[in-house]
Amino acid sequence: SLTGTGLHLAFGNNKVLKGVDIHVDAGTTTTVIGPSGSGKSTLLRVLNRLHEPDSGDIALDGRSVLQDNPDDLRKRIGMVFQQFNLFPHKSVADNIALGPRKLRGVSKEEARSVALRQLELVGLAHKADARPANLSGGQQQRVAIARALAMEPQVMFFDEATSALDPELVKGVLALMAELASGGMTMVVVTHEMGYARNVSDHVVFMDRGVVVETGKPEQIFTAAESERLRTFLSQVL
Ligand code: ATP
Ligand code: MG
Repeated sequence: SLTGTGLHLAFGNNKVLKGVDIHVDAGTTTTVIGPSGSGKSTLLRVLNRLHEPDSGDIALDGRSVLQDNPDDLRKRIGMVFQQFNLFPHKSVADNIALGPRKLRGVSKEEARSVALRQLELVGLAHKADARPANLSGGQQQRVAIARALAMEPQVMFFDEATSALDPELVKGVLALMAELASGGMTMVVVTHEMGYARNVSDHVVFMDRGVVVETGKPEQIFTAAESERLRTFLSQVL
């Protein structure tokens, strides 16, 4: 499980997280929804210690991680962003093999076989030796997901993973994410895809202006929202 407790973060005078609590049980998916600027991306970056919180705690499987080297946590959390950030001059397989090679110290041969196995899982084994530029956006995002999975993360974070994709490519990536979720991956998904939030997640967190305003099962959030802010947000996005 992954737990953030009382997380605060300010950039100068801008208080972006104002005491955020989040708990994600192992094997479950939590989606984070909320208006632009509400602090969703910042929350993910604090949870994997790309930003250190001003106060609060982060625990993995019940053990606080803030005393550890931040790299320890980052290796255990896979991240997928809107931008795929693949290396253009490396093949698809080499992009995936890089992390295991550099960060987990596996041999070249082993890293290649890890890469091929992950490509198989995301349905792109036939693209192993292609360059990223020769793949569609949806395929590139699936490579980025394979790259994160190759590190054997304990938790996966997705931040608007489908927002940069052409509409016809969104489905395939969402289907892959849903498949990961049903395979038991622990996931935190920031998304504007309300259908995904409603149908795939076990838990929904609604953030607004740096606080968690409401949290609950999708059914509760989408059919019986308690707060006015959530009802207003949903009326704008649904
Ligand atoms: P969106 O839906 O548009 O992606 P978000 O909910 O992910 O929005 P954040 O990106 O977390 O929102 O931003 C929350 C606030 O923090 C914004 O006011 C933003 O300007 C500010 N912010 C985010 N990152 C930084 C940074 N590195 N330095 C300074 N301010 C930042
Ligand atoms: Mg964001």
